[in-house]
Amino acid sequence: MYAPFISEDLRLRVLSLLHVGIPVETIMQRHNESVEKQGGVSNRDDLLTHRYVRIQERNIRRASCELDEDDDISIGLWVESHQNHVFFYEDFSDNDPFLLGIQTEWQLQQMIRFGSGRLLALDSRFGTNKLKYPIQSLVVFNSDNKAIPVAWIISPSFSTSGDTHRWMRALFNRVRTKDPTWKLAGFIIDNPLLDIVAIREVFQCSVLICFWRVRHAWHKNIMKRCSSMETRAKLSKALGQIVKDICKGFGAIESFDKFMEDNVNCRSFMDYFKAVWYPRMGSWITALKTLPLASQESSAALEFYHNQLKIRLLNENDYDINQRADCLINKLGTKIQAYFWLDEYEGKDDFSRYWKDEWASGLTAWRKARTIPNADIVTEGERVKVVDHVVWNPGSEYAICGCDWGEKGNLCEHVCKVIQYFREKGLGLPSISLLQYNQGLINMLKCPPANSFIRDHAVSLAVWVNEQLSAQYGKSGRNGDSDGRDEMVNSCTRMEVDAELC
Ligand SMILES: [Zn+2]
Repeated sequence: MYAPFISEDLRLRVLSLLHVGIPVETIMQRHNESVEKQGGVSNRDDLLTHRYVRIQERNIRRASCELDEDDDISIGLWVESHQNHVFFYEDFSDNDPFLLGIQTEWQLQQMIRFGSGRLLALDSRFGTNKLKYPIQSLVVFNSDNKAIPVAWIISPSFSTSGDTHRWMRALFNRVRTKDPTWKLAGFIIDNPLLDIVAIREVFQCSVLICFWRVRHAWHKNIMKRCSSMETRAKLSKALGQIVKDICKGFGAIESFDKFMEDNVNCRSFMDYFKAVWYPRMGSWITALKTLPLASQESSAALEFYHNQLKIRLLNENDYDINQRADCLINKLGTKIQAYFWLDEYEGKDDFSRYWKDEWASGLTAWRKARTIPNADIVTEGERVKVVDHVVWNPGSEYAICGCDWGEKGNLCEHVCKVIQYFREKGLGLPSISLLQYNQGLINMLKCPPANSFIRDHAVSLAVWVNEQLSAQYGKSGRNGDSDGRDEMVNSCTRMEVDAELC
């Protein structure tokens, strides 16, 4: 299938560039320039030929995703010919719809590289309203804390709780076969109804809950359904406070009843909230009270990934991917993987096509915020102006900003910047994640003497974590991006005070 003289890495690079539409001539031109720059041929990859790239381009152009007229047969044929991309496949049965788990070799490598000893997150609802076959994505976070998809799961319908165990064990076994030492630190879910017991059983790690999807939906609808900034800020603040209270262990469904009574004038949003969210809040309340909350940075990364996948998958007027599973699977395994592969490729800036929307990736809002200097922040009464944008409810992820990104319900860099700035200056309360972490430690400190072993272990672990954070932020703190450590220090001071009161 491919020329044996070039490395797997170069083969993947050529295919990825072709998949996103870079012409053969441009690929060869850039390649020849780099060989010339290094003073001539020095390794096997330098022997890449025009003919080889042209053949690959022709193969891609001629390939059809429809291997059979019948979509179900076509999926079966695709699975047969792509065994190394499939970690799980179950055809339709009397009780269950088909379920397919895709993971390319490159995705497996990323899962090992960025997942071991770190976090894995599930984006469980992509395309549920638009695609005939919705997608669940498993992502890891790279060194910029950007999400990279390491597996996709496709099915005509995902039941609320029953599907997870079907594919999870197969994925875990695949990774462990490649690297027997691989172990997760935590698994982030975005749906309270997922099978948490199965996740804990398979991955043997803690499970965290991420609230980004709900916050995003509330935010988007507040912006859409209320025209006054003042009202938007008021509603968002009230919802944020309720969620915060719930995470701290108090607050219940009645809090939302009161919220609806107090804001009955905002009819359009209240009708939406009552119909869509109120019936679901019970399971969310249980999850928020029992599981640790994922950090704001992880939430920003998941939101960014979800938007990125939307742009990349739905950028073309592609009727087939909406209707046929074979075309969707094919696009994910070729073009979409190519975009994510190229995000990690350091030579991507040499191609002007990179600046097209669907390819350009950039930083998450949280990381972008770190590039905004503190001098660009001006306090205006209860609001804060960041660059040219006014942020209402500053210091919280329930802030409201009028920029384009914020108008669509996203956590924008202006809101993130104010959160980081407030933490750095010790002006805001620590994040819920940190409060929960501290609470966990305090609970350990309260252990009776018989359990002093556990307590001692917990304390030394906390000290170790603090040292690791200090070392990491010490390295990167030169650019003023030390908000994590500052938050830790501010919060630890509070924790010491709390502990004295125990
Ligand atoms: Zn903004």
